[in-house]
Amino acid sequence: MSITGNLALILKQIPDTVKLVVVSKTQSIEAIRDVYNYGQRIFGENKVQEIIQKQPLLPVDIEWHFLGHLQTNKVKYIAPFISLIHSVDSLKLLAEINKEAQKSNKIINCLLEMYIASEETKFGLDMNETITILSSDAYKSMENIRITGVMGMATYSDDDGLTQREFAQLHSYFKTLKQKFFIDDANFKELSMGMSGDYLTAIEQGSTIVRIGTAIFGDRNYS
Ligand SMILES: *Cc1c(COP(=O)(O)O)cnc(C)c1O
Repeated sequence: MSITGNLALILKQIPDTVKLVVVSKTQSIEAIRDVYNYGQRIFGENKVQEIIQKQPLLPVDIEWHFLGHLQTNKVKYIAPFISLIHSVDSLKLLAEINKEAQKSNKIINCLLEMYIASEETKFGLDMNETITILSSDAYKSMENIRITGVMGMATYSDDDGLTQREFAQLHSYFKTLKQKFFIDDANFKELSMGMSGDYLTAIEQGSTIVRIGTAIFGDRNYS
């Protein structure tokens, strides 16, 4: 199956209310352009070095999302063009994004990355850390960031029950945070969960944004 053939199949599977981020890390400009020409406008990358190389070479109406672990000293490189940062995992990072957004005279949309997997290696906040951030005066004083939801990654596993429980957990975190901090804020509405192996399960559990790479482009070549 071709890349656009894969994309067409996935677009058929996901409801109109769910946004697709095509994860283009390691993919060539040509491959990204093919997907763009098919009509896709949202692309996601997880490395600052890579996204800042690609962004100027591709059409300006692409909505770029950042998905990976983000170091504070690199925020300045993506702030001018980024649409949504999925991977905010500290107050310090949020403060830096706010500062750089201010310099670019814009508001940057952010998701809080929450830890739901049983693997040690995944980044993310737990519920207490999230509540601490959202309750802080520092956060409340930030005028150039907008928190629009949460993001999470399930354990890499073929146990569907486990994946389901982890996504249900994230959905429940989302609802609690909505109730406690964003009850009157319509912008807080995104649940970013689901990748190539688990996006259908994620959608069943209420995902509003899926992030898909391999199922569109095939296996990544990191060499
Ligand atoms: C790479 C990546 C994806 C896409 O993973 P696939 O399995 O290739 O679909 C999604 N989210 C994040 C955060 C990623 O780093």
